[in-house]
Amino acid sequence: MKIEKAETFILRVPLGRTIKDATYTFNTWSLAGVILQGETGEQGIGFTGLEGAGEEIIKSILENYYIPSVLQKDSLDVRRLWHECYWGKAHWFGRAGATQLALSALDIALWDLNSKGAGQPLWKYLGGARKDAIPAYNTDAGWLNLTKKQLVSQLRTLTEKNWSAVKMKIGLPDPSEDMARVRSVREAIGQKAKLMVDVNMGWKLNTALVWAPHLAEFNVAWLEEPFHPDEIESHAVLARHISTPLAAGENIFSKYVFRDYVKAEALTYLQPDCTRIGGVTEWLAIANLAECWGLPLVPHLGDGAQVHQHLVAATSASPMIEYVPWLKECFEDPVQVREGQVLLPSRPGASTTFRKKTYMQYRIA
Ligand code: MG
Repeated sequence: MKIEKAETFILRVPLGRTIKDATYTFNTWSLAGVILQGETGEQGIGFTGLEGAGEEIIKSILENYYIPSVLQKDSLDVRRLWHECYWGKAHWFGRAGATQLALSALDIALWDLNSKGAGQPLWKYLGGARKDAIPAYNTDAGWLNLTKKQLVSQLRTLTEKNWSAVKMKIGLPDPSEDMARVRSVREAIGQKAKLMVDVNMGWKLNTALVWAPHLAEFNVAWLEEPFHPDEIESHAVLARHISTPLAAGENIFSKYVFRDYVKAEALTYLQPDCTRIGGVTEWLAIANLAECWGLPLVPHLGDGAQVHQHLVAATSASPMIEYVPWLKECFEDPVQVREGQVLLPSRPGASTTFRKKTYMQYRIA
Protein backbone atom coordinates (compact mmCIF):
# COMPACT_ATOMS: atom_id res chain seq x y z
CA MET A 1 0.00 0.00 0.00
CA LYS A 2 1.47 3.37 -0.99
CA ILE A 3 2.24 5.53 2.06
CA GLU A 4 0.82 8.99 1.51
CA LYS A 5 1.16 10.76 4.86
CA ALA A 6 2.90 10.40 8.18
CA GLU A 7 2.42 12.11 11.51
CA THR A 8 4.50 11.69 14.66
CA PHE A 9 3.12 11.75 18.19
CA ILE A 10 4.19 11.69 21.83
CA LEU A 11 1.86 10.43 24.56
CA ARG A 12 2.67 10.58 28.25
CA VAL A 13 0.68 8.15 30.35
CA PRO A 14 0.87 8.83 34.11
CA LEU A 15 1.26 5.71 36.25
CA GLY A 16 -0.22 7.36 39.34
CA ARG A 17 2.75 6.34 41.50
CA THR A 18 6.53 6.25 41.41
CA ILE A 19 8.16 2.93 40.69
CA LYS A 20 11.77 1.86 40.98
CA ASP A 21 14.13 -0.88 39.91
CA ALA A 22 17.88 -1.15 40.47
CA THR A 23 18.63 1.36 37.67
CA TYR A 24 15.58 3.54 36.98
CA THR A 25 12.94 5.51 38.88
CA PHE A 26 9.88 6.75 36.99
CA ASN A 27 6.19 7.68 37.24
CA THR A 28 5.25 8.02 33.56
CA TRP A 29 5.28 5.69 30.57
CA SER A 30 5.64 7.54 27.26
CA LEU A 31 4.81 6.35 23.79
CA ALA A 32 6.62 8.09 20.93
CA GLY A 33 5.78 7.00 17.42
CA VAL A 34 4.23 7.52 14.05
CA ILE A 35 0.90 7.18 12.26
CA LEU A 36 1.33 6.25 8.59
CA GLN A 37 -1.56 6.78 6.23
CA GLY A 38 -1.91 4.53 3.22
CA GLU A 39 -3.50 5.48 -0.08
CA THR A 40 -6.81 3.82 0.93
CA GLY A 41 -6.98 5.97 4.08
CA GLU A 42 -6.04 3.04 6.31
CA GLN A 43 -3.67 3.95 9.16
CA GLY A 44 -0.67 2.04 10.45
CA ILE A 45 0.40 2.98 13.97
CA GLY A 46 3.68 2.16 15.69
CA PHE A 47 5.52 3.40 18.76
CA THR A 48 8.29 2.78 21.21
CA GLY A 49 8.02 2.96 24.99
CA LEU A 50 10.06 5.30 27.22
CA GLU A 51 10.30 6.03 30.92
CA GLY A 52 8.99 9.58 30.54
CA ALA A 53 12.14 10.96 28.86
CA GLY A 54 13.76 11.19 25.43
CA GLU A 55 10.54 11.33 23.42
CA GLU A 56 11.64 14.39 21.40
CA ILE A 57 14.74 12.54 20.22
CA ILE A 58 12.63 9.68 18.85
CA LYS A 59 10.25 12.14 17.17
CA SER A 60 13.15 14.02 15.60
CA ILE A 61 14.81 10.85 14.23
CA LEU A 62 11.50 9.72 12.76
CA GLU A 63 10.76 13.07 11.13
CA ASN A 64 14.25 13.81 9.83
CA TYR A 65 15.62 10.40 8.89
CA TYR A 66 13.07 7.58 8.66
CA ILE A 67 9.74 9.02 7.49
CA PRO A 68 11.34 10.61 4.36
CA SER A 69 12.57 7.10 3.43
CA VAL A 70 9.07 5.60 3.39
CA LEU A 71 6.78 8.33 2.00
CA GLN A 72 5.34 7.39 -1.40
CA LYS A 73 6.81 3.88 -1.02
CA ASP A 74 4.94 0.57 -0.87
CA SER A 75 4.40 -0.55 2.73
CA LEU A 76 4.54 -4.19 1.63
CA ASP A 77 8.27 -3.75 0.98
CA VAL A 78 8.73 -3.53 4.72
CA ARG A 79 12.00 -5.48 4.94
CA ARG A 80 13.63 -3.35 2.22
CA LEU A 81 12.38 -0.16 3.86
CA TRP A 82 13.81 -1.37 7.18
CA HIS A 83 17.26 -1.79 5.60
CA GLU A 84 17.10 1.57 3.84
CA CYS A 85 16.31 3.27 7.16
CA TYR A 86 18.87 1.26 9.15
CA TRP A 87 21.69 1.88 6.65
CA GLY A 88 20.68 5.48 5.92
CA LYS A 89 22.26 8.62 7.35
CA ALA A 90 21.15 7.79 10.89
CA HIS A 91 23.49 4.80 10.94
CA TRP A 92 26.44 7.13 11.48
CA PHE A 93 25.18 8.20 14.92
CA GLY A 94 22.94 5.26 15.63
CA ARG A 95 22.73 1.47 15.25
CA ALA A 96 21.54 1.10 18.86
CA GLY A 97 19.58 3.08 21.42
CA ALA A 98 17.41 5.97 20.16
CA THR A 99 17.74 5.22 16.43
CA GLN A 100 16.70 1.61 17.01
CA LEU A 101 13.73 2.71 19.15
CA ALA A 102 12.59 5.08 16.38
CA LEU A 103 13.05 2.38 13.74
CA SER A 104 10.98 0.05 15.91
CA ALA A 105 8.10 2.55 15.89
CA LEU A 106 8.23 2.90 12.11
CA ASP A 107 8.51 -0.84 11.45
CA ILE A 108 5.57 -1.65 13.76
CA ALA A 109 3.48 0.97 11.93
CA LEU A 110 4.30 -0.73 8.60
CA TRP A 111 3.34 -4.20 9.86
CA ASP A 112 0.16 -2.78 11.42
CA LEU A 113 -0.76 -1.17 8.10
CA ASN A 114 -0.01 -4.32 6.09
CA SER A 115 -1.94 -6.69 8.35
CA LYS A 116 -4.90 -4.28 8.40
CA GLY A 117 -4.69 -4.18 4.60
CA ALA A 118 -4.88 -7.99 4.59
CA GLY A 119 -7.82 -7.92 7.00
CA GLN A 120 -5.95 -10.12 9.51
CA PRO A 121 -4.70 -9.72 13.06
CA LEU A 122 -0.91 -9.44 12.84
CA TRP A 123 -0.29 -12.87 14.40
CA LYS A 124 -2.37 -14.55 11.68
CA TYR A 125 -0.81 -12.40 8.96
CA LEU A 126 2.62 -13.64 10.13
CA GLY A 127 1.40 -17.25 10.06
CA GLY A 128 -0.15 -18.09 13.43
CA ALA A 129 1.67 -20.64 15.58
CA ARG A 130 -0.88 -20.79 18.42
CA LYS A 131 -4.50 -21.67 18.79
CA ASP A 132 -4.97 -21.04 22.51
CA ALA A 133 -4.49 -18.20 24.97
CA ILE A 134 -0.91 -17.29 25.97
CA PRO A 135 0.25 -17.97 29.54
CA ALA A 136 1.28 -14.63 31.03
CA TYR A 137 3.29 -13.34 33.95
CA ASN A 138 2.70 -10.09 35.80
CA THR A 139 5.50 -7.61 36.47
CA ASP A 140 3.55 -4.78 38.05
CA ALA A 141 3.64 -5.76 41.73
CA GLY A 142 7.31 -6.43 42.34
CA TRP A 143 8.96 -3.00 42.45
CA LEU A 144 12.10 -2.29 44.42
CA ASN A 145 10.65 0.73 46.27
CA LEU A 146 7.89 -1.34 47.89
CA THR A 147 8.44 -2.30 51.50
CA LYS A 148 8.82 -6.03 52.06
CA LYS A 149 5.31 -6.09 53.52
CA GLN A 150 3.79 -4.32 50.48
CA LEU A 151 5.73 -6.52 48.08
CA VAL A 152 4.62 -9.74 49.72
CA SER A 153 1.01 -8.62 49.96
CA GLN A 154 0.81 -7.43 46.32
CA LEU A 155 2.41 -10.55 44.87
CA ARG A 156 0.26 -12.80 47.03
CA THR A 157 -2.85 -10.94 45.82
CA LEU A 158 -1.84 -11.54 42.18
CA THR A 159 -1.35 -15.27 42.69
CA GLU A 160 -4.70 -15.44 44.50
CA LYS A 161 -6.20 -13.80 41.40
CA ASN A 162 -4.97 -16.72 39.27
CA TRP A 163 -1.69 -15.27 38.07
CA SER A 164 0.49 -18.39 37.98
CA ALA A 165 3.72 -16.43 37.35
CA VAL A 166 5.03 -13.16 38.79
CA LYS A 167 8.28 -11.18 38.72
CA MET A 168 9.97 -9.09 41.41
CA LYS A 169 12.87 -6.64 41.27
CA ILE A 170 16.05 -7.19 43.23
CA GLY A 171 19.38 -5.29 43.24
CA LEU A 172 19.24 -3.44 46.57
CA PRO A 173 22.56 -2.09 47.92
CA ASP A 174 22.58 -5.00 50.40
CA PRO A 175 21.96 -8.27 48.53
CA SER A 176 21.14 -10.06 51.78
CA GLU A 177 18.03 -7.86 51.91
CA ASP A 178 17.15 -9.00 48.39
CA MET A 179 17.39 -12.62 49.49
CA ALA A 180 15.20 -11.96 52.54
CA ARG A 181 12.57 -10.40 50.26
CA VAL A 182 12.69 -13.30 47.80
CA ARG A 183 12.36 -15.79 50.69
CA SER A 184 9.30 -13.95 52.10
CA VAL A 185 7.64 -13.76 48.69
CA ARG A 186 8.21 -17.46 48.03
CA GLU A 187 6.76 -18.36 51.43
CA ALA A 188 3.71 -16.17 50.74
CA ILE A 189 2.91 -17.36 47.20
CA GLY A 190 3.68 -21.04 47.78
CA GLN A 191 5.84 -23.37 45.69
CA LYS A 192 3.50 -23.71 42.72
CA ALA A 193 3.60 -20.17 41.32
CA LYS A 194 6.49 -19.27 39.03
CA LEU A 195 8.69 -16.52 40.49
CA MET A 196 11.23 -14.55 38.46
CA VAL A 197 13.73 -11.97 39.74
CA ASP A 198 15.16 -9.01 37.81
CA VAL A 199 18.36 -7.14 38.74
CA ASN A 200 18.02 -4.51 35.96
CA MET A 201 21.82 -4.57 35.39
CA GLY A 202 22.52 -3.76 39.06
CA TRP A 203 25.19 -6.36 39.86
CA LYS A 204 28.86 -6.97 39.14
CA LEU A 205 30.13 -10.49 38.61
CA ASN A 206 31.67 -10.83 42.09
CA THR A 207 28.35 -9.89 43.75
CA ALA A 208 26.46 -12.32 41.54
CA LEU A 209 28.84 -15.21 42.18
CA VAL A 210 28.23 -14.84 45.92
CA TRP A 211 24.48 -14.22 45.92
CA ALA A 212 22.91 -15.73 42.82
CA PRO A 213 23.49 -19.37 43.91
CA HIS A 214 21.00 -18.75 46.78
CA LEU A 215 18.16 -18.17 44.30
CA ALA A 216 17.89 -21.92 43.71
CA GLU A 217 16.67 -22.33 47.32
CA PHE A 218 13.62 -20.24 46.42
CA ASN A 219 12.89 -22.05 43.17
CA VAL A 220 13.41 -18.92 41.04
CA ALA A 221 12.45 -19.55 37.41
CA TRP A 222 14.97 -17.09 35.98
CA LEU A 223 17.45 -14.41 36.98
CA GLU A 224 17.04 -11.41 34.66
CA GLU A 225 19.64 -8.87 33.56
CA PRO A 226 22.22 -9.37 36.30
CA PHE A 227 24.81 -7.22 34.43
CA HIS A 228 25.36 -4.47 31.90
CA PRO A 229 24.29 -5.86 28.49
CA ASP A 230 27.80 -5.55 27.00
CA GLU A 231 29.17 -7.97 29.60
CA ILE A 232 28.42 -11.16 27.69
CA GLU A 233 31.38 -12.90 29.31
CA SER A 234 30.09 -12.16 32.83
CA HIS A 235 26.72 -13.66 31.89
CA ALA A 236 28.49 -16.75 30.54
CA VAL A 237 30.61 -17.19 33.68
CA LEU A 238 27.56 -16.83 35.93
CA ALA A 239 25.49 -19.20 33.78
CA ARG A 240 28.17 -21.89 34.29
CA HIS A 241 28.21 -21.23 38.03
CA ILE A 242 24.51 -21.41 38.98
CA SER A 243 21.53 -23.65 38.27
CA THR A 244 19.00 -20.78 37.92
CA PRO A 245 18.58 -19.91 34.21
CA LEU A 246 19.56 -16.41 33.04
CA ALA A 247 17.31 -14.08 31.04
CA ALA A 248 18.12 -10.81 29.23
CA GLY A 249 17.37 -8.81 26.11
CA GLU A 250 15.58 -5.55 26.83
CA ASN A 251 18.85 -3.62 26.41
CA ILE A 252 20.14 -5.60 23.46
CA PHE A 253 19.70 -3.82 20.14
CA SER A 254 20.39 -6.37 17.43
CA LYS A 255 20.10 -10.01 16.44
CA TYR A 256 23.90 -10.20 16.19
CA VAL A 257 24.28 -9.53 19.91
CA PHE A 258 21.65 -12.18 20.72
CA ARG A 259 23.63 -14.57 18.54
CA ASP A 260 26.79 -13.81 20.52
CA TYR A 261 24.99 -14.43 23.83
CA VAL A 262 23.65 -17.73 22.55
CA LYS A 263 27.07 -18.79 21.22
CA ALA A 264 28.63 -17.98 24.60
CA GLU A 265 25.91 -20.07 26.35
CA ALA A 266 25.27 -16.95 28.39
CA LEU A 267 21.43 -16.96 28.29
CA THR A 268 18.52 -19.36 28.52
CA TYR A 269 15.59 -16.94 28.10
CA LEU A 270 15.82 -14.42 25.23
CA GLN A 271 13.87 -11.21 25.91
CA PRO A 272 13.90 -9.01 22.78
CA ASP A 273 11.47 -6.08 22.86
CA CYS A 274 9.97 -5.22 19.46
CA THR A 275 9.63 -1.57 20.52
CA ARG A 276 13.42 -1.39 21.08
CA ILE A 277 15.15 -4.02 18.94
CA GLY A 278 14.03 -2.61 15.59
CA GLY A 279 10.37 -3.60 15.37
CA VAL A 280 8.62 -6.73 14.16
CA THR A 281 11.21 -7.34 11.43
CA GLU A 282 14.22 -7.70 13.75
CA TRP A 283 12.18 -9.43 16.48
CA LEU A 284 11.21 -12.21 14.07
CA ALA A 285 14.88 -12.84 13.26
CA ILE A 286 15.52 -13.42 16.97
CA ALA A 287 12.49 -15.71 17.19
CA ASN A 288 14.07 -17.79 14.40
CA LEU A 289 17.37 -17.85 16.31
CA ALA A 290 15.55 -18.99 19.47
CA GLU A 291 13.79 -21.76 17.52
CA CYS A 292 17.10 -22.97 16.03
CA TRP A 293 18.71 -23.23 19.46
CA GLY A 294 15.64 -24.52 21.29
CA LEU A 295 15.74 -21.55 23.65
CA PRO A 296 12.57 -20.00 25.06
CA LEU A 297 11.82 -16.42 24.00
CA VAL A 298 9.79 -14.38 26.51
CA PRO A 299 9.81 -10.76 25.32
CA HIS A 300 10.28 -7.64 27.39
CA LEU A 301 7.42 -5.19 26.93
CA GLY A 302 7.60 -1.56 25.94
CA ASP A 303 4.06 -1.80 24.63
CA GLY A 304 2.01 -3.33 27.44
CA ALA A 305 1.87 -6.51 25.30
CA GLN A 306 -0.29 -4.91 22.55
CA VAL A 307 2.09 -5.86 19.72
CA HIS A 308 3.94 -8.63 21.55
CA GLN A 309 0.80 -10.73 21.99
CA HIS A 310 0.75 -11.02 18.18
CA LEU A 311 4.46 -11.86 17.94
CA VAL A 312 4.35 -14.48 20.68
CA ALA A 313 1.36 -16.06 18.93
CA ALA A 314 3.32 -16.14 15.66
CA THR A 315 6.32 -18.16 16.87
CA SER A 316 6.65 -21.57 18.47
CA ALA A 317 9.68 -20.31 20.45
CA SER A 318 7.64 -18.35 22.95
CA PRO A 319 6.03 -20.18 25.90
CA MET A 320 4.90 -17.12 27.85
CA ILE A 321 4.33 -13.37 27.69
CA GLU A 322 5.00 -10.53 30.14
CA TYR A 323 2.12 -8.28 31.11
CA VAL A 324 1.88 -4.81 32.67
CA PRO A 325 -1.50 -3.05 32.74
CA TRP A 326 -0.21 0.53 32.35
CA LEU A 327 -1.54 1.15 28.83
CA LYS A 328 -4.84 -0.69 28.89
CA GLU A 329 -6.90 2.54 28.74
CA CYS A 330 -5.04 3.74 25.65
CA PHE A 331 -6.18 1.32 22.97
CA GLU A 332 -9.36 0.51 21.08
CA ASP A 333 -8.48 -3.16 21.34
CA PRO A 334 -6.59 -3.55 24.65
CA VAL A 335 -4.90 -6.81 25.65
CA GLN A 336 -7.50 -9.15 27.13
CA VAL A 337 -6.34 -11.11 30.16
CA ARG A 338 -8.33 -13.92 31.72
CA GLU A 339 -7.13 -16.15 34.56
CA GLY A 340 -3.54 -15.04 34.00
CA GLN A 341 -3.67 -15.76 30.26
CA VAL A 342 -3.67 -13.36 27.31
CA LEU A 343 -6.47 -14.10 24.83
CA LEU A 344 -5.56 -14.07 21.15
CA PRO A 345 -6.70 -10.83 19.46
CA SER A 346 -9.11 -11.04 16.53
CA ARG A 347 -9.23 -7.55 15.00
CA PRO A 348 -7.05 -6.80 11.96
CA GLY A 349 -3.71 -5.12 12.64
CA ALA A 350 -1.21 -5.04 15.49
CA SER A 351 -3.61 -3.74 18.19
CA THR A 352 -1.88 -0.33 18.15
CA THR A 353 -4.91 1.84 17.34
CA PHE A 354 -5.50 4.40 20.09
CA ARG A 355 -8.83 5.33 21.63
CA LYS A 356 -9.47 8.92 20.48
CA LYS A 357 -10.21 10.17 23.98
CA THR A 358 -7.02 8.88 25.60
CA TYR A 359 -4.93 9.88 22.59
CA MET A 360 -6.08 13.49 22.99
CA GLN A 361 -5.79 13.35 26.79
CA TYR A 362 -2.18 12.11 26.92
CA ARG A 363 -0.79 13.72 23.78
CA ILE A 364 1.92 16.32 24.41
CA ALA A 365 3.11 16.66 20.82
MG1 MG B 1 13.71 -6.45 33.03
